[in-house]
Amino acid sequence: MHLIIAEKNIAANRIAHIMSGKEKVSAKKEGGVNVYSFGDRTSIGLRGHVVEVDFVEGYTNWRSQERPPRSLIDAGTVKRPTEPAIVKLIQKIAKKANRVTIATDYDTEGELIGKEAYELVRAVNSKVPVDRARFSAITAEEITRAFSETTEIDFDLAAAGEARQVVDLIWGASLTRFISLAAKRGGVNILSVGRVQSPTLAMIVDREREIDSFIPEPYWEISLTTEKDGQQIVARHAEGRFTEKKAAEAAYKGTKEPLVITEVKEGKRADRAPTPFDTTQFIVAAARIGYSAANAMRVAEELYMNGFISYPRTDNTIYPPSLNLESILKTLEKTKFAPDVEWVRKNKRAKPTEGKKSSTDHPPIHPTGVATEAELGENWKLYELVVRRFLATLSPDAEWATMRIAMDATGQNYIATGSRLTTPGWRTVYPYSDAKDSILPVVKKGEKLKILDLNLEEKQTQPPPRYSQSKLIQVMEELGLGTKSTRHEVIQKLISRKYIEGNPLRPTLVGKAVTESLEAHASTITRPDMTQKLEQAMEAIKIRDKSRDGVIDDSRKMLHQVFDELEPNEAVIGQEIMDQTDEELTLGPCPVCGNDLRIRRKGGSQFIGCNGYPDCTFNISLPGTMWGSAVRTKNVCEIHKLFHVSLIAKGSRPWEMGCPLCQLIEQQKEHYAKMPSMTEQMQQTLLDCKIFSLYEVSRMEPEVFAKKTGINKKLADKLIQEANEVLNFIRKRSECKKFMKQYVPPKRGRSHTKVMNGFSDSGINFIEDVALASVDTLKKTGLSDEEAETLKTEAIALVAKNQLKDIGVSTVSLKRYQESGFLTPEDILLAHPAYLSLKAGISIDTVTKHVSLIAEALGRPEPEKISKKALEAGKNELTGLHGVGDTTLENLYKAGIYDKKTLAAADAAKAAMLSGLSKDHVKKLQAASGI
Ligand SMILES: [Zn+2]
Ligand SMILES: [Zn+2]
Repeated sequence: MHLIIAEKNIAANRIAHIMSGKEKVSAKKEGGVNVYSFGDRTSIGLRGHVVEVDFVEGYTNWRSQERPPRSLIDAGTVKRPTEPAIVKLIQKIAKKANRVTIATDYDTEGELIGKEAYELVRAVNSKVPVDRARFSAITAEEITRAFSETTEIDFDLAAAGEARQVVDLIWGASLTRFISLAAKRGGVNILSVGRVQSPTLAMIVDREREIDSFIPEPYWEISLTTEKDGQQIVARHAEGRFTEKKAAEAAYKGTKEPLVITEVKEGKRADRAPTPFDTTQFIVAAARIGYSAANAMRVAEELYMNGFISYPRTDNTIYPPSLNLESILKTLEKTKFAPDVEWVRKNKRAKPTEGKKSSTDHPPIHPTGVATEAELGENWKLYELVVRRFLATLSPDAEWATMRIAMDATGQNYIATGSRLTTPGWRTVYPYSDAKDSILPVVKKGEKLKILDLNLEEKQTQPPPRYSQSKLIQVMEELGLGTKSTRHEVIQKLISRKYIEGNPLRPTLVGKAVTESLEAHASTITRPDMTQKLEQAMEAIKIRDKSRDGVIDDSRKMLHQVFDELEPNEAVIGQEIMDQTDEELTLGPCPVCGNDLRIRRKGGSQFIGCNGYPDCTFNISLPGTMWGSAVRTKNVCEIHKLFHVSLIAKGSRPWEMGCPLCQLIEQQKEHYAKMPSMTEQMQQTLLDCKIFSLYEVSRMEPEVFAKKTGINKKLADKLIQEANEVLNFIRKRSECKKFMKQYVPPKRGRSHTKVMNGFSDSGINFIEDVALASVDTLKKTGLSDEEAETLKTEAIALVAKNQLKDIGVSTVSLKRYQESGFLTPEDILLAHPAYLSLKAGISIDTVTKHVSLIAEALGRPEPEKISKKALEAGKNELTGLHGVGDTTLENLYKAGIYDKKTLAAADAAKAAMLSGLSKDHVKKLQAASGI
């Protein structure tokens, strides 16, 4: 059997369908993995890497004394399966295979993924021949060719990829750990550092500093408007920018009629057709139509996997001779671009355009398959872009007619320029860039015109612009940072780690703090040199100039030097970063005292507190950190001048909370609505007096409250009392919710809040309400029968428990009563003390005490009291009777019979019912008692 291993499932599927020809492909799932079989062949897709490089065991503890961050540099590494199901299946099939073909993507990463698959195969089958199919597009032609001329795995290329993996792991892990520990950051707040990531971040920080320190300088521009045959001409002063205001004013004043045409120059300008797409140029073009780098690459990959375009990771901008351009045009004739193809055929340039870079692995990105808009949906836009770019590279250059008019106004020279597209050329099929005409009227040398308008404008020099994603990718490429496959991922990582934000990109406070500290203490990490060196070493591995282990060792040495610089400065680095990021937690003025409010975290909880504490106790509570750590956002509340707060949790969208004070005030409105004496006007008075919460009201002294707000003491008393009642309500309701949470697991569409709100709608707010509610009422909120019943039973038990505690039953006894089935005060009161004592294992004296307390609390008559002595004597009497053992004794106690006397006095029928013994049995015992 011939096993084919592709990079992804979708590629495996397509390869199977291409290679099967007319044969049927049977698709099935094995252990959750798709398997495509046809004839003697089986095709399976990986999920990119199915194993990952990680440290050997023993390095997971960040705070280990024996293994500090530096120890990671020399720690051993192992490969661990990340997709065990796929690994298992490949090995199962490989055992039976007589040929294995690796058909992963054709580049360094793909070669490494292929080598990983090869190793999995070899582990279970040491003999099977393994070959490699290399292709640049998943089309019938390419796949057929690739499988008919398979080669060997390029272990050198894979080794280069492996070196990168290991180096990145070591750099990233050791430095991330070091910096995070130094700045006392953990969990979701760790500060990551990386080989490519940190120099890229440094570029963005650097640009921001340029912008911050930029001092704009004024300059002046003069323009005039004139007219010929009703057509306007706008001309600017030949001097361009005036840096001196005086000179500009003089030129402005000196500009007078007559305005004489001194020269008219006509010319032509060629507008070169664009060059074929490599990854970077593709990302740049996609950005112009609104795609982020990561999104553009994601879509391109999908298009490639489905056979619509060629492999999108390429540095090549020259079509190789082997690429059949004519057959691509033929393919495109079957699409809606047929008219464009026809135009290109008629106007085709002699030779397609060429960029500067040629590489042998992949051709430039080009279309490979027929697609329709309906079939591609959103992805159509990028397919169209690739198609049109391809057509443009075969099209003639465009041409512009240009015109330059020079004028003289009493010694002041002005110039007007115009241009007109005379030959649209490639622009016919590639309408993505603007081609605006600015047409000038026909004028003659010596002609005199009127000045209709004269303008002196003051302007300012502008700072350099921030990087857009596509611009950044271009600069990364120039500096040798990352590869065509990783650049967009690096940017995405910086965004998700909250180091950069916005579009164009700017650094966050944390991004800036980390970069500046690294620059100051170990600039190797933030400079591109080191990573460039590594990229060169990687190339050397590919051609066997260097070994994988040699490169990794060099990198280890370099990293040790970095740690030599870092370690002595650990405390300083930590302090620097903390000082700068401190700002991140400061929100603005406290509404009570004016000191700064700050987000404070402690364990799993966080809140907003005042820097004026303990003099000022103003605070706002926040949801626990399990909901995400609170940070400030860029927005500021106009009313309170406080930064908005959002909760950031790993893997989910930030939860925008808005202005925390506005939120607090809004919440209090809900609470105040429950207070009968609280009016809207009173609420305003409270805000005016800087009393922001119900809680504050509840804790006020009536006199102070009255004085502060100017109300009478009676109303103050009342308001405080009502506030306490509402608080009590809130507290008890939240207790009820907490209780409910223990027994009702959350489900989709049934959050605890939703269930609790449902309860409230039925008038259930406290645990006591749950105990009294019917199971049907509880079920209305989406609870199952079982859940409702459990909840009710547990509520009854809990209410009773609290009642008994209040009555004065000790915790130890309470537990015993409950364990033996006496849950409520009622249960205890109804049982006979002798039976209670026996079942619960509590001495009769204590039971008697409890029963008296309960009876008193419930206003019931006190039941009969039995002394310990009497009980023991009675027990001896009863067990002395024939056939009375422990069980019968317990049954008799149940019926209130604890000695011969009570036995004889009992009504046999009633005693039988209560004890569960037969009436005859009771009568027999009565007879035996001898009374
Ligand atoms: Zn304060
Ligand atoms: Zn506000």
